[in-house]
Amino acid sequence: MADTIFGRIIRKEIPARIEHEDDLCLAFHDVAPQAPVHVLVIPKQPIASLSEVSADDEPVLGHLLVVAADVARKLGLNDGYRLVVNCGRDGGQTVDHLHVHLLGGRGLGWPPG
Ligand code: AMP
Repeated sequence: MADTIFGRIIRKEIPARIEHEDDLCLAFHDVAPQAPVHVLVIPKQPIASLSEVSADDEPVLGHLLVVAADVARKLGLNDGYRLVVNCGRDGGQTVDHLHVHLLGGRGLGWPPG
């Protein structure tokens, strides 16, 4: 997988507001928040997109969701939140390193654009 800006954040080459870090993943605030809370949860291993995952990735994929729920609790999103994974061009993915968006702190419309 080609290196991305998220790879540089994992290696601490560029700064980010980190909410959570462990051996498998990193959670940090989006630089252009689309809601009062907008955190990205990313695997440390280089997975470019959800379209590339296999059954071997189930543990890390599950971990991303558990961490997203933990961060949501930590940030007080008691009225709910949304997790989004943009995949590929039609899905609006702009950074080719798998990431889960955690959005909350306001009512979110449906369907998304
Ligand atoms: P996506 O469009 O789903 O690929 O989401 C990529 C997200 O990464 C966007 O919401 C960007 O605002 C966010 N982003 C890009 N660069 C950075 C950065 N240096 N720090 C934090 N978030 C970033």
